Amino acid sequence: MENNKSLKIILIVLIILTIIVFGGVTYLYLFDKEPNTQENKQSYSAKAVAAMEEYNILNTVNNREYSKTLEIILEEDLYNSDYLEEYYKINYSTIPNFPNYVAQLLYKNYTSTEINYCLANFKDNLDILLNMDYIDILQYKDITNFDITKLERYLKYQETNTDYDLKTVVTYVNIGLDKDGYSEYVSYTADEATDLTILVNKYHKLPDDYEPDDLVSLSYGSNYKLRKEAAEAFEKLTAAAVLEKVYFYPFSAYRSNETQRVLYNRYVARDGVATADTYSARPGFSEHQLGLAVDVRSSTLTDNLTNSHYEWMLNNSYKYGFIVRYPKGKQSITQFMEEPWHIRYLGVDLATKVHASGLTYDEYYDLYLETR
Ligand SMILES: [Zn+2]
Repeated sequence: MENNKSLKIILIVLIILTIIVFGGVTYLYLFDKEPNTQENKQSYSAKAVAAMEEYNILNTVNNREYSKTLEIILEEDLYNSDYLEEYYKINYSTIPNFPNYVAQLLYKNYTSTEINYCLANFKDNLDILLNMDYIDILQYKDITNFDITKLERYLKYQETNTDYDLKTVVTYVNIGLDKDGYSEYVSYTADEATDLTILVNKYHKLPDDYEPDDLVSLSYGSNYKLRKEAAEAFEKLTAAAVLEKVYFYPFSAYRSNETQRVLYNRYVARDGVATADTYSARPGFSEHQLGLAVDVRSSTLTDNLTNSHYEWMLNNSYKYGFIVRYPKGKQSITQFMEEPWHIRYLGVDLATKVHASGLTYDEYYDLYLETR
């Protein structure tokens, strides 16, 4: 009987021991399974934790996921209790002065969504936003040619052109239309000038001494020269037109900077600068210096195109790589009065795209070719 009793006691002791060991292991396991609070407490720097205590948010913060943005804001002593939720939503960025930008943009009423958008897209130009009143920056989100460095110009142009939508405002300002032609312009190098797609207008100037090195005479006459590729394309265009009984006679093609100067000065002497500027480019600003533009007329008796010939040109020139560069009704964009007779070579691919877009080359260039 004594033995039986001892066995019972041993059994009970064993059961108790098993419970203690198993329970302990289970406890440790569960304890280990709750690393979040533990890690959170350890992730924030001592400085940030001290600031949390000061602002009485230690408990709130400990119950939430870690936020690097919040931590750095606390460390830099830029915490504002109004924005606690926003700190959590703002993606941390390694840009210099990140906490200062966050604090200042929040103060200007930018939301975390807007700030994240700006951090992702204009991290090097955030000062622009700090130097002006709050603006609805997300309204530009889908405008691919938006350039934040021109933001003030967009806003100013919009004020005086209230009938334009935002997309138009951006494109027109990018072209330069908020400023007078020739007042500010890009100066190309000779190397850049050889590019067949180059944009030349009152905001883009060629070097004075630029002359293409592959000029060839048109079959129509040796007075008329274009760059080789453009000349060959022009022969194809005129040959195709002839088959439809449409005749194009070139009356001006390549013009040197000096020729353009003489021509422009003659017009100025006759009509004055303001008028001359509406129809004649100043030297350095003419597509004719590119050797990629040619003026054509319907008859050798007049410097013009008949309407039907103009229509033919509008509808067919792109097939040979040309566009009508100064179409009717586009003077406010091209900054030149309509010139139905002036065509510009771009190559078939690009001319086809520009034709399909229905845009002037100034607009098309800004939207699709300008590298920002
Ligand atoms: Zn011309």
